[in-house]
Amino acid sequence: MEWTGGCLCGAVRYRATVDPIRAVNCHCGMCRRTSGAAFLTHVHFPIGDFTWIQGSPTRYRSSAEAERGFCDRCGSTLTMHETVLSDRVQVTLGSLDRPEDLRPDDHVWTENQLPWLHIDDDLPRFPRISSAVPSRAEE
Ligand SMILES: [Zn+2]
Ligand SMILES: [Zn+2]
Repeated sequence: MEWTGGCLCGAVRYRATVDPIRAVNCHCGMCRRTSGAAFLTHVHFPIGDFTWIQGSPTRYRSSAEAERGFCDRCGSTLTMHETVLSDRVQVTLGSLDRPEDLRPDDHVWTENQLPWLHIDDDLPRFPRISSAVPSRAEE
């Protein structure tokens, strides 16, 4: 399946030619701050099957382990690039043209989840990182 997406203004566009490796809802404070939302969902695509078809994000180094990408024209939060996950690019779920077509795998950093947010899905929940992904970006 082909997946496409981009930023709010359209200056940055991408295409992935395979289904995502996984998608994870992150409740950490850094994801909240960078997105302005209660939590942020990252969709992982293999880097070899992913192409920027117009423009590319400007990157900000948010920790020793990761950079985050955004559109330098409209400010949309677009990507996360982790040193320990260099085989993939992570795009924000909200940047996909059809986010309704995928289902996230789990929730991470739930120890930082906002107390008024109640999600009654049956997905696995992890207080910090998921056992499925060796991420150190938000520790
Ligand atoms: Zn833009
Ligand atoms: Zn996070």
